Amino acid sequence: MMKDIATPIRTKAILEKYGFSFKKSLGQNFLIEPNVLSRIVDHANVTEKTGVIEIGPGIGALTEQLARRAKKVVAFEIDQRLLPILNETLAPYSNVTVIHQDVLEANLMEAITEHFNECEEIMVVANLPYYVTTPIIMKLLEDKLPLKGIVVMLQKEVADRIAANPSTKEYGSLSIAVQYYTDAKTVMTVPKTVFVPQPNVDSAIIRLLVRDEPIVELKNESFFFQIVRASFAQRRKTLLNNLVHFLPNGKELKPVIEATLAQVEIDGRRRGESLSIEEFAKLSDALDSVLNNA
Ligand code: SAM
Repeated sequence: MMKDIATPIRTKAILEKYGFSFKKSLGQNFLIEPNVLSRIVDHANVTEKTGVIEIGPGIGALTEQLARRAKKVVAFEIDQRLLPILNETLAPYSNVTVIHQDVLEANLMEAITEHFNECEEIMVVANLPYYVTTPIIMKLLEDKLPLKGIVVMLQKEVADRIAANPSTKEYGSLSIAVQYYTDAKTVMTVPKTVFVPQPNVDSAIIRLLVRDEPIVELKNESFFFQIVRASFAQRRKTLLNNLVHFLPNGKELKPVIEATLAQVEIDGRRRGESLSIEEFAKLSDALDSVLNNA
């Protein structure tokens, strides 16, 4: 069998053959350690029943490992220069489709319908481009795709924010958004040395298992996220002050906000970062009844 793409020697040979130069602006840090790649695929539990969406295949290092175990892999790559390379490196795998597109502009539901009709479950598996980690994760969740889960490599600092608990400095609107839709866990931290070029920050692999139902039932999802964002707008301000300053018409609504906080028994002198998702849900449902359905 041909040597894995993700070895330092083969990666170097491929890059030299095509005269490829890395674009930092596209977050191009390629993995050169097959063991890390197979751990990612293990954590994603990829089997011959799985359809996999990959974001940013690079020269195909992870794609190859996925193709060996999955039913079908669809990979979105933004950099045109990588297409001829992928065409060569992935030639042995007939179950891979590479789509030349910015994943943020892709219609993922359409891709799922077109490519995964023979699959029993769908996973997103990727070594993400770090400059767009959060928008990519938010798109995958907000598009409400029929995913079983998401297993991705990202900056350790972002993984910490995603999996954070209340009253920690990492806890914020990203933790709440991701935990609302998924059960999130950091499964492995990864040293810089397994990438070329080496990134400046440490990395981690997280696993997000999509919940059958969101963790809390909400009357108005977009209003909930508005409340959450306002509550974290300035972390040193109290919850009440943030709501008053950062909700539309907050200043005029101050008496209503105070009364609603009292009604749901949440002390407005607390900081936003101390509220659990359940408390944010209670607060947003109550405020929604007063403000939006009057
Ligand atoms: N999967 C490869 C690996 O593990 O070695 C490459 C990972 S590298 C961190 C990120 C890849 O995402 C690069 O190939 C880059 O060109 C691609 N990329 C960057 N922005 C993208 C976007 N918006 N949509 C799709 N691919 C993107």
